[in-house]
Amino acid sequence: MNTMTQCRACTSRNLLMYLPLGYHPAANAFPRPDQLGETEPRWSLDTHVCLDCALIQVPDVLPPDFFVDYLYIPSASDTMHAHFAGTAQRFRERLVTAPGQLVVDIGCNDGLLLSACQREGLTTLGVDPAANIVERARANGIEVFNEYFTAESAQRILAQYGPAQVIVTTNTFNHIDNLHGFMEGVVTLLAPDGTFVIEVPQALTCIEQNEFDTVYHEHLSVFSVSSVAALGRFFGLQVVDVDELPIHGGSMRVYLRRGGPVAPVVAEWLERERQAGLFEAATYAAHAFRVDAIRDELMALLRDLKRQGKRLAGYGAPAKGNTLLNYYNIGPDILDFLADRNSLKQGRLSPGMHIPVVSPDEIAARAPDYLLILAWNFGEEIMAQQESFRAGGGKFILPIPKPQIIA
Ligand SMILES: [Zn+2]
Repeated sequence: MNTMTQCRACTSRNLLMYLPLGYHPAANAFPRPDQLGETEPRWSLDTHVCLDCALIQVPDVLPPDFFVDYLYIPSASDTMHAHFAGTAQRFRERLVTAPGQLVVDIGCNDGLLLSACQREGLTTLGVDPAANIVERARANGIEVFNEYFTAESAQRILAQYGPAQVIVTTNTFNHIDNLHGFMEGVVTLLAPDGTFVIEVPQALTCIEQNEFDTVYHEHLSVFSVSSVAALGRFFGLQVVDVDELPIHGGSMRVYLRRGGPVAPVVAEWLERERQAGLFEAATYAAHAFRVDAIRDELMALLRDLKRQGKRLAGYGAPAKGNTLLNYYNIGPDILDFLADRNSLKQGRLSPGMHIPVVSPDEIAARAPDYLLILAWNFGEEIMAQQESFRAGGGKFILPIPKPQIIA
């Protein structure tokens, strides 16, 4: 394990530890029931922020082999299908200037975004180190370079495929420990007039909406626009535009280029972050206080329902859910099961708390009274899908931004 002492983006040592989440197992390492006797390794998830660039970050990094068998598949979500179709359309309209120019998706996962790009007529290449997921991408007709993206592998991609007009990374940049090494690779592969596009959850919403569970050992960073700008400056890239995105509880799409016009929204974002206090320690102390207040309120609510004899379960077994379950100490004594559409997780147990993960079909069979929505970033989609649960008298509980029951 590697523990960082300076900011991943701007290299400052002005780091503040503000949320002592303690030791957690890897949030995507779902043990099988027969592995219960084995030791579950845990690492510190204490959350820091750089007060110079407002990058929220976890210093402790998992060994890299934890990503080889990766259990997150975005294709499981209807919301992400629609989102990536919009992203691909934007690339065709705004970033790709001639036929045949290459769009490279780093951390392409099962190829959902690149499939959408292909439907827009774009030429694509995926890069991903996870062998089991790359097989799925290839089955979807996506060319994939099956390695970690580094300065060195970028040289080989360039030699084999030529420069990239667009390099995109969606919900992957926040997985990267060595951001400077990654950025070296980006400027190696990027065409002179190319655009580097980063889609990630953003710090402002994370702090304001109490989304502390956005952080886990694989989501090492929550970026502010300021932190992306600070990082880009080391590599001659500047932030030229920012799109605000409603996915994952509040995300952004940041565009970096070597030059060219800068959209007015960039300065507006930097000012918003300053005014929201993202460079001030007091902001994070207040956030940490709210996170603990939510725990007290949520636990009182769940225990009260249990006392009334209600049956409770969780909806979703996302990585972020494990940060919340482990920090709030919510186990199988409170939640009978977690329902998740991802078949790779079904039949396994949640990391740390060991709540069984089952198919959403079980909800009808086992008829819980309440579903705690752990995948709160897909809350609307989940509640729409579970209309029959609600029609049968079932209720939902949303944990954040503050606990609430939705009947
Ligand atoms: Zn920094």
